[in-house]
Amino acid sequence: MKAHIALLPGDGIGPEVTTEAVECLKVIASRFGHEWRLEEAIVGAAAIDATGMPLPPATLALAKTADAILFGAVGAPRYSDPAHKVRPEQGILQLRQELGLYANLRPVVCFEAVRDTSPLKPELLEGVDILVIRELTGGIYFGEKTRTETRASDLCVYTVPEVERIARLGARLARERRGKLTSVDKANVLETSRLWRSVVVRVMKEEFPDVLLDHMYVDAAAMHLLRRPSDFDVLITENMFGDILTDEASMLAGSLGLCASASIGASTRGLYEPIHGSAPDIAGKGIANPYAAILSAAMLLRHSLRLEREAKALEAAVVAALSAGVRTADLKPRGAPASTRDAGDAVRAALAR
Ligand code: NAD
Repeated sequence: MKAHIALLPGDGIGPEVTTEAVECLKVIASRFGHEWRLEEAIVGAAAIDATGMPLPPATLALAKTADAILFGAVGAPRYSDPAHKVRPEQGILQLRQELGLYANLRPVVCFEAVRDTSPLKPELLEGVDILVIRELTGGIYFGEKTRTETRASDLCVYTVPEVERIARLGARLARERRGKLTSVDKANVLETSRLWRSVVVRVMKEEFPDVLLDHMYVDAAAMHLLRRPSDFDVLITENMFGDILTDEASMLAGSLGLCASASIGASTRGLYEPIHGSAPDIAGKGIANPYAAILSAAMLLRHSLRLEREAKALEAAVVAALSAGVRTADLKPRGAPASTRDAGDAVRAALAR
């Protein structure tokens, strides 16, 4: 197939890890007979430096016409003061909004070869394979905000259609997996959560009676993710709960450098990025872990291009590289750590076999 892929490497380690993912996509193209048109644009601090804007119009135009977007990371210490009116992180928020990307998919997989890097006991990690789906465009982050000298408020709003589309997406993906959906809310306290729960119950009863549904309060979910993580299959939740739970869940995998994500909407056009940031502390050293970026490219193949076989091949190649002991510094290597390039090369070598 032919596909047009936008590359937005961004800042810090973003370009380093994106380069490795792109090289892997090129190997996939030649091995499976595809043709990619790869087009790069600036975003984040790099874009502010060049144009004064974190998401210049040319970058947005490219993102809106490409079949999929491979994103690195944005953020730079020189713009870290929250008092700055224009900040690199606004680039990714604007992109999600402009493209209507309402769901963030974060798989949490504990690769056997690097189980020792997780802070959890290895026996708890046996069989952990979770897909967390976070609602991305509603809730308290986007509600009305007020501030006086003595008082501040953030309004949390959800509408029925916003919950319906997350419930349907979660149920569809659960059907393709182990058939279990956990909906996380705080229905004992919050009105938005009571709406969330009633909508999820109705959609599941009417449209997905075959999917096993359970509900969990967010505080209990935070505990159970550590106590019995292998019980979860697909987990759906609202924006702020998802923001917090996904970072917690990423620790099951052992390193931020292993966690991929996809932001998707109504069309097949999606944005794929590692969950980590621009890591300025290690940028430019060639030591960042590129596996999360490569696994994000696999999600791009699966969700935007519908190339399941190719996605699986790329994921299997990452597993092979990890099993061969190719570990970057964050993965507690036993000997000398692998460089970013070494890790990418190991994945490509496995792909070629
Ligand atoms: P971070 O994820 O960049 O780094 C946290 C720690 O993890 C650092 O010690 C870093 O060295 C390490 N780390 C992260 N990714 C790694 C990788 N691939 N390999 C090895 N080690 C890795 O988070 P932070 O330090 O809180 O934020 C840095 C900047 O990134 C900030 O400007 C922040 O706003 C931004 N950020 C951007 C995104 C995004 O682009 N979506 C997400 C999170 C943070």
